[in-house]
Amino acid sequence: MPSIFSKIISGDIPCYKVAEDEQYLAFLDINPLAKGHTLVIPKVEVDYIFDLDDKTYSGLFAFSKRVATAIEKVVPCERIGVAVIGLEVPHAHIHLSPINGIHDLNFTKQRIVMNQEEYSSLAKEINAAFL
Ligand code: AMP
Repeated sequence: MPSIFSKIISGDIPCYKVAEDEQYLAFLDINPLAKGHTLVIPKVEVDYIFDLDDKTYSGLFAFSKRVATAIEKVVPCERIGVAVIGLEVPHAHIHLSPINGIHDLNFTKQRIVMNQEEYSSLAKEINAAFL
């Protein structure tokens, strides 16, 4: 059965897309730690990030760097935090989330609430800043 992220890649489930190329996709996390919290995934369906082949793994990080640069242009923050958890969705992904201190990358903390319009306009802004 395809993962929920594979269904996003195929378009069966919608997402707030911020960037895409042939091999990778970045979209806003639907339960964000902070405004701009983004997930970057390879299109190949592999559960554990360290099971990716080296080329896809390196490419995922290179793509994430470009996405992080775009997020940083849109969301004021100290820097973009990077995390890999993968306990909820069995499809490799990198979390990118704006941080101003270590407490901002605490995945047990209360998530923020955004409405559809906020998600949509934020995704468009980050996409416009993506080079
Ligand atoms: P983890 O697998 O523990 O790294 O967490 C998976 C992340 O995916 C969580 O932060 C969820 O909020 C996020 N997530 C789950 N389903 C969706 C979805 N349909 N669209 C965007 N983000 C999602």
